[in-house]
Amino acid sequence: MSKRARKIRSFAGALLLGVSGFALLHNYAESRADEFNNTQVIVNDKKMSLENFYCNLDYNNGGWQYIGDDGKAISVDSLCDGGYRERLKIDNQKCSALKVKVDTIFLSYSNDKKGKREVIYTIDGKSTSRIPKLGYNLRNEVGIRHFVSDNSDLAEKFEFCNEEYFCTFSHELRHFHNRDICGWNSYEIKYMECCLDEISAELAQALEKVKRYNTHDGDEKYLGGRYSFLDEGIKDGTIRSSGRFDKGEEKYIADKMFNWWLEKMYAIYDSINNERTIHFLESAPYKEVRPNWKKHEKLVSEWFKIDGYDFWPYIKKREKEIFDKISAERRTEYKRLTNEKFNNLTYFEKLEELKNIKREHYQQKIMKDYATAQLIRFMRLNKKSGGKN
Ligand SMILES: [Zn+2]
Repeated sequence: MSKRARKIRSFAGALLLGVSGFALLHNYAESRADEFNNTQVIVNDKKMSLENFYCNLDYNNGGWQYIGDDGKAISVDSLCDGGYRERLKIDNQKCSALKVKVDTIFLSYSNDKKGKREVIYTIDGKSTSRIPKLGYNLRNEVGIRHFVSDNSDLAEKFEFCNEEYFCTFSHELRHFHNRDICGWNSYEIKYMECCLDEISAELAQALEKVKRYNTHDGDEKYLGGRYSFLDEGIKDGTIRSSGRFDKGEEKYIADKMFNWWLEKMYAIYDSINNERTIHFLESAPYKEVRPNWKKHEKLVSEWFKIDGYDFWPYIKKREKEIFDKISAERRTEYKRLTNEKFNNLTYFEKLEELKNIKREHYQQKIMKDYATAQLIRFMRLNKKSGGKN
C-alpha cells in the first residue's frame, strides 16, 4: 500500500472512529456486513464481494485504483466510465427518401335513425363513424387524407379538410424534419419538446396557408379561420398577406401561434405527448435522462427555422410556460421513472453518477465504504481469533 493510501486509510478510519465509540462502531459494522458480504461487484470478469473490492482499493496519483491478485492496478474511475458510451447511440436511422401517401376517404351519411344522421368515413373499404386524422407521419412516410363524397353537402362541408385548404402536407413534413425528437433528455424537457414539435408543425402549416391565400387573390377559404389570429392580423394590417414578413410580423405570428396552441391544442395533445415522452425515453439510461438544456436548444432551435424565418428567439422566451404547466402528479411520475433507471444501474455506474454529480461526494462515498469494508474485516478477524476488545 502506498504512503498516501495509508494516510487516507487512517484518515477514513478516524472519520468513523471519531464519531463513535467502539460498541457503536461494532454495531455499525454489523449493520453493514450483509450488504458488503452479499453485494457482488464484477471487475474484469472476476466476481467478488463489495468487502473484497474495497479491501483491495488503493489511492494513488489522485485517483482510486483496484489492485488485482496479479498486482495490476485498475483505475476505478475508468471502470466507471465504461459501459455508457456504447449506449449513447440513439436509434437515429437516416431516411434516404420520404414516401408520401394519400388516402382517399369516402364520406356518406348513416341511415336515418329517428332523424339522426351520422357521418361515415370509409378508407380502404373499412368504415368508421370517428373522424380520421387529417394527416400523419411515420419515420419515412408522410400521409395525407383526401375527403370525397357523392353528397354535395358533405363534400362542401369537408372541403376545408383537404390538403388544398388545410395544408396538411406542410404540417406533416415539418414533423418529418423534426424526427430527431427521439433523442434523449429529461422527461420534463422531452414532454416540452413534444409540444414544441407540434407548434413548429403548426407554424409551417400557417405560413403555407398565408402563401395560398395570397396566390388565390385573398380568397378567404384559404385562411379559413383555423388560425383566427392570421385572419385578424391580415384584416387589421398587423401582418401582410404578401411579400416577406419583417421581424415584428415574425414575432406576432410566433407569439399568437404559441397562445393559440396552448389554448386550443395543449389539452388535446397532453396525454399523447406524455405517451410519446415515455416511449422515446424507454431505453435511455439514467445518465441520459438528466436535464440537458444545451442539447435541447441545439435540437429545437432548428425546428423553428421555417421557410427562411427564425421563430426560435420568440419561442425560446416562452417555452418555460409549457414546462411550468406540467402537473405535480406528472412530475412525480417522471421522477419515479428516472429513479427506476437509477436503480437499474450497476454498482460502478452508480459510483460514476456520484462522481459526476459531485466529485467530493464520490470521494467521500468511496472513502467511507473503504473504511467500512476494512472495519467489517477487522471485526470478523477479531471475532475469529477470539480477540480482546
Ligand atoms: Zn402535428
